[in-house]
Amino acid sequence: MRNGDPASYPFDPVEVAALAAARARVLERIEEAARRAGRAPADVRIVAVSKTVAPSRLRAAVAAGLDLLGENRVQEALGKIDQVPGAAWHLIGPVQSNKARRAVEAFAVVESVDSVALAERLDRIAAEVHPGRPFRVLLQVNVDADPAKAGFPVAGLAAALPRILALPNLEVRGLMTVGRLVATPEAARPTFVALRRLSETLRRDHPSLGPDLSMGMSDDFPVAVEEGATLVRIGRALFGERPRDPRRQDG
Ligand SMILES: *Cc1c(COP(=O)(O)O)cnc(C)c1O
Repeated sequence: MRNGDPASYPFDPVEVAALAAARARVLERIEEAARRAGRAPADVRIVAVSKTVAPSRLRAAVAAGLDLLGENRVQEALGKIDQVPGAAWHLIGPVQSNKARRAVEAFAVVESVDSVALAERLDRIAAEVHPGRPFRVLLQVNVDADPAKAGFPVAGLAAALPRILALPNLEVRGLMTVGRLVATPEAARPTFVALRRLSETLRRDHPSLGPDLSMGMSDDFPVAVEEGATLVRIGRALFGERPRDPRRQDG
């Protein structure tokens, strides 16, 4: 049993230094991109995508200032969260209905809400798990209409939104998208532009939709920042290559 003694949560100082350097490089690129777009760099937060990364390394990441972590599998995250004190967690992958309760218990934000049914389920559970404190979500949008991707179709979101925004125990902070695999960062730009415009359009009619835009990954986050990202989900540029490419479904 862990007792809160820091010695129970060891990490390697060499890892901390390496991750601090990787974080500094990413922050620098965020700053440059924000400056190009006339935005404040502080308006962009890094979600360090930690799938496949072991808890000991994540403790080093937290010590290096990467304390907002993203996982795309509830089960994998549950095995790690207790071993990484001081981090907040975003879920960025699918929520099966039998894992919804544990997702609400373990994550600060579910970025991957992709149906009214899931939103309603999270709303019901949030009322039980922490009554009086709305649970934060983003709505995932399949901007590119990619059959391999989850998310609301662009046309479906406007219809679903009033029902979701009416749920009393959810706080809808904004929109999220996962871009297609493209050859160059520039090729991802239309996806990011489309998500920003969709957010602007929807918020005109629905002011309670939050302004967050979660978009951009290791290969294209500077472009996403230029186009308005407030959350960039970055895995490989911080932690190095993963064993397999999770965007092709494993994770
Ligand atoms: C893995 C993953 C990321 C991070 O991808 P990198 O290319 O490693 O930066 C971002 N978003 C989602 C939904 C992911 O599954």
